[in-house]
Amino acid sequence: AAKKEGRGRAKTFSRSMLIVLEQREMLRRSLRTALRENQFSIEYQPLVKPPFTIVGFEALVRWRHPLVGIIPPNVFVPMAESDGLMSEIGQWVLEQACRQATTWPSHFTVAVNLSPAQFLHDGFTDRVSQTLDMVGLRADRLELEVTESVLLEKTTNNLDTLNTLNVLGIQISLDDFGTYYSSLSYLKNFPFDTIKIDRYFIKDLENDEKSQVIVRSIIALAHGLGMAVTAEGVETRAQALWLEREGCDRLQGYFLGVPMPPNAIDAYLRQSSSMEVS
Ligand code: C2E
Ligand code: MG
Ligand code: MG
Ligand code: MG
Repeated sequence: AAKKEGRGRAKTFSRSMLIVLEQREMLRRSLRTALRENQFSIEYQPLVKPPFTIVGFEALVRWRHPLVGIIPPNVFVPMAESDGLMSEIGQWVLEQACRQATTWPSHFTVAVNLSPAQFLHDGFTDRVSQTLDMVGLRADRLELEVTESVLLEKTTNNLDTLNTLNVLGIQISLDDFGTYYSSLSYLKNFPFDTIKIDRYFIKDLENDEKSQVIVRSIIALAHGLGMAVTAEGVETRAQALWLEREGCDRLQGYFLGVPMPPNAIDAYLRQSSSMEVS
């Protein structure tokens, strides 16, 4: 009986796996129509200088599938990447985000995430500066976020690309620092302006002494190299206060503000300016 049950269970399991796979296939196919049919949108999450000065927003892409609903970027970005579509989606995000930023106070920056394919695409840096020219955004108001996965391949070209962006005046952030390989050679070789500490180290900052030691060390390391530090995933007041005390330059997370559609930004700015006063 046990054997029978076991086999039954295995069968159900593989059936549900099959459904998952079919869904992924379906999603993969509909990615191709998504760009054409305008199914992507962008939410913006505030970047805050402690205690509560807004300095910019990070653009986070969303896919509203007509049948499935909102699909998060962690699901579709890797698919788009392997299907060769991410360069085009990324360019769409870059252009939208830069255009959006021109409607904000002129000291606000906009941060845009780059995928490896987009970054490695021929003529990427030209495309970025053309985009800035076209929408009329100052280069120093754009911040490009790369993860170590972007930098894994073709190191000399990567360095050229980052240096070119740097010379243009664009800011470069190393995203999700502390995950991946976290080879310190990246910090030695690449011209980052900012290191973003992954939320994995922020989430139990209050109780976990090891996280505290690590975060404190990353802040010292970054500052020693002349780089700024942003903490990702700040969810509580206690985390924000601790990070402020330790000299963290910028905070990002649900405690400071959730990702929001562009038309919610005005209300958020009004509300947060009254928070600063009180
Ligand atoms: P990321 O660049 O590290 O962005 C931060 C992610 O953490 C976002 O998830 C954000 O919604 C989430 N987050 C922010 N604050 C908190 C918090 O306090 N707690 C928790 N638990 N989460 C928080 P999202 O929007 O789902 O994006 C996930 C990842 O997808 C991003 O991670 C980024 O790597 C990628 N991504 C998003 N937009 C783009 C894009 O336009 N292009 C590329 N290539 N990748 C993108
Ligand atoms: Mg990011
Ligand atoms: Mg990140
Ligand atoms: Mg992350």
